[in-house]
Amino acid sequence: MSSAAASPSLSPKLQSEVNRRRTFAIISHPDAGKTTLTEKFLLYGGALQLAGSVTARKSQRATASDWMELEKKRGISVSSTVLQFEYHDCVINLLDTPGHKDFSEDTYRVLTAVDAAVMVIDAGKGIESQTQKLFEVCRQRGIPIFTFINKMDRPARDPLELMDEIERVLSLHAYAVNWPLGDGKAFCGVFDRIDSLVHTYERTSHGSSRAPVAVHGAKDDSLRNMLDPDLYQRFSDEIEMLDGAGATFDLPQILDGELTPVFFGSAANNFGVDMLLDAFLKYAPPPSDHQVGEKTIHPAQPDFSGFIFKIQANLDPKHRDRLAFIRICSGKFERDMNVIHTRTGRKLRLSSSHKLFGRERETVDEAYAGDVVGIVGHGDFQIGDTLAQDPDLQYQEIPRFCPEHFAWLHSTSSAQTKRYREGLDQLLQEGVVQSFYMRDNAQRLPLLAAVGPLQFEVVQARLESEYGAETRLEITSYEAVRWLPKETTVASLSTAVMPSGITFVSDAADQPALLFPDSWALKYFTEKNPTIPLSTSPPK
Ligand code: GDP
Repeated sequence: MSSAAASPSLSPKLQSEVNRRRTFAIISHPDAGKTTLTEKFLLYGGALQLAGSVTARKSQRATASDWMELEKKRGISVSSTVLQFEYHDCVINLLDTPGHKDFSEDTYRVLTAVDAAVMVIDAGKGIESQTQKLFEVCRQRGIPIFTFINKMDRPARDPLELMDEIERVLSLHAYAVNWPLGDGKAFCGVFDRIDSLVHTYERTSHGSSRAPVAVHGAKDDSLRNMLDPDLYQRFSDEIEMLDGAGATFDLPQILDGELTPVFFGSAANNFGVDMLLDAFLKYAPPPSDHQVGEKTIHPAQPDFSGFIFKIQANLDPKHRDRLAFIRICSGKFERDMNVIHTRTGRKLRLSSSHKLFGRERETVDEAYAGDVVGIVGHGDFQIGDTLAQDPDLQYQEIPRFCPEHFAWLHSTSSAQTKRYREGLDQLLQEGVVQSFYMRDNAQRLPLLAAVGPLQFEVVQARLESEYGAETRLEITSYEAVRWLPKETTVASLSTAVMPSGITFVSDAADQPALLFPDSWALKYFTEKNPTIPLSTSPPK
């Protein structure tokens, strides 16, 4: 940041807009409290009337997801949007992610567009599988992670054990910013270790409305008097332990994603949420530089640039169109501005630009690095594309997950074939599922490939509701796919040892790959053909 301010090519106005932005996502296992926490954040942001819409989306899914019957039937959130609100002069962009593991690829893409994450853990359960998986994605990106241990009003696991679990399971150092005073029925607040403040929890008033009480450290007599003797003993033992053997608060380590600040609380009771949010705004980074090859793209440089991390068609039945979500990385976005779609070299005018709030759209006239705008009306956008004023800029590709489920999708009515092909093409472009093609298939019928089988249901449900095309799903017995080196041909594979059932295919970008019927075939092939490298991602 400091070097940026010194550079003459950076605009101070842009810099101050960048500095007040925080762009993040919440990661958690389903039911840990992500929706509840999101809603409370919005309350703090003054987006009160809108906060209800998040709950409404969950409780009355019929209204929120009528474009997507599947969400209603399965009780899952498939779509994800962006919530922007202001709080304490900060502009907060909270990017929503679908919770179900079958949509982890979608979540992954959203995580490429954030600068930090809040990890919500259920205090009674600790780290669950989905949290761990999403955490790994954040770790790869090296973004800071703030932890909220939720549901302290319920019987919780030993807080020291929870801290230890973060260290052990995630290999992430953890610093408890506040520490719980009891749990479940005995939960009576938290002690802020940085400010030496006690925030008391009052069950009757749905959380704390009283001002926090200042104490002189954990050994203060007023704190001793506040708690019952057993609880006080336990608390002071725990604090002693943390002070002695626990991690120390180290901001550079937090920013590197090596240390997570931990907050205890209860989202449903709106307790501890303000402490988390305040600390988050204070310590989480604003948008930072992007390194693209030799170039350093600074968020406050005048040249606009951004990348598409999500494409969502037909988000709202009122607007049957495709919305490309762009994360702005530099410069100022202005409606009607001209940019270059750097993959094709085409010049575009960005006139139909929207800000999203849940399912609501609002025209956006200007936006800055860290913000997300939705652009409508450009059919050839793909996930990972760059829009910039510099024609040579191409942000890094967004890698895809290696699929584990494969299916054919047949149109059940010849009268609907055209709609089926058109719909499927669009959904494939949107990246709802991946596709592979048999080498001898002249019609180029796609074999659909997904990380989780629910993705197929999304394709089917959307083809029916949005394109009027009914389909029949035929799950195949393939269990794995591996990419081959670029130059691989049928001839070059002729000498390979091939157990039966392996099929040579191409992906949508014509990259060669092999489909395997089971893990045994994959293992056998790998052992018998040590000179043929297989990869879980397409060759570059
Ligand atoms: P999500 O699936 O992660 O979005 O979780 P939700 O926010 O929908 O929460 C799951 C359930 O846990 C809901 O029934 C919430 O009311 C409940 N819940 C969330 N936070 C708390 C909390 O602090 N205390 C208690 N007791 N329940 C909570």
